Amino acid sequence: MENVIIIGSGPAGFTAALYAARAELSPLVITGNTLGGQLSLTSEIENFPGFPQGLGGQELMDLMRQQAERFGARVEYDLVEEVNLSRHPFWLKTQSTTYEAKALIITTGSSPRLLNIPGEAEFFGRGVSTCATCDGFFYKDRVVAVVGGGDSAMEEGIFLTRFAQKVYIIHRRDKLRASQIMQSRAMKNEKITFIWDTIVTEVLGEEGKGVQGLRLKNVKSGEESTLAVDGFFIAIGHVPNTKLFEGQLELDEHGYIVTDRRQHTSVPGVFAGGDVQDPIFRQAITAAGTGCAAAMEAEKFIRELED
Ligand code: NAP
Repeated sequence: MENVIIIGSGPAGFTAALYAARAELSPLVITGNTLGGQLSLTSEIENFPGFPQGLGGQELMDLMRQQAERFGARVEYDLVEEVNLSRHPFWLKTQSTTYEAKALIITTGSSPRLLNIPGEAEFFGRGVSTCATCDGFFYKDRVVAVVGGGDSAMEEGIFLTRFAQKVYIIHRRDKLRASQIMQSRAMKNEKITFIWDTIVTEVLGEEGKGVQGLRLKNVKSGEESTLAVDGFFIAIGHVPNTKLFEGQLELDEHGYIVTDRRQHTSVPGVFAGGDVQDPIFRQAITAAGTGCAAAMEAEKFIRELED
């Protein structure tokens, strides 16, 4: 029987592990497929307080893991496949074993929604990105394209104009979903050109050279064309990783776990932190903050069980 199992190993998960370990709960972290979460895929982190020179995403996650382990957190490189939250202790099945736990902290994060088109996976990290904040810097004086018509696409596009000489925003309709203020900021920006009613059907590139262009299709005329770009940013929303919890925890209309201000979910003893319950901020530091709060509340829950 575990005291507390933390599902997910991003900044929320390892911060929860650090706090639970220091509370002498000997927490178990089940990493999921991506040890370190989305941050570990990020090249350079310049906005995590305490690192004035910045550091690599992988490096930051290694440090967080080491810090949690130093106080007794255990890390299992495994994937949770099934949970039962309707009984207590909670029950979990992973790829290799089953567990019971008095408390659970869910920090499974979210994943950028992808287009699933040819070339996207092949050139991911070599010209295809889902994070302008992380990778925009590499496109100084280059030409880039962003796909999407929401606030994220506007934000990414505007951010990229700091570096790139030209930014195309490609949207599948002729009307943006983004808020008025973000739309007008993007439209006023001279470096941004909109391509309307258009979908991206293929990412074009060459082995060793990365992305060189996009194949486009106008959805109204059916006309196909190619666009030369050096970078391609996908900003069509995020999908919270909550499939495991459907029907067991309250989720909002977009699938995010609903938590209160103390990171409690709809099931007592189950807490959540980080992007899996945050459609708004999605920052490493806010994820770490909610992970910390979730662990403090989990400790309180376990102590009350023992009283
Ligand atoms: P979003 O609002 O859901 O917008 C996603 C965009 O991607 C939509 O324009 C959608 O097109 C397009 N899209 C979705 N699937 C696509 C596909 N397969 N191919 C091509 N295009 C596709 O997502 P978001 O922009 O990430 O924003 C999420 C939430 O965070 C929103 O509530 C937003 O307001 C908020 N947010 C706010 C800010 C800010 O205020 N600064 C910044 C970022 C995010 P359609 O329009 O045709 O559906």
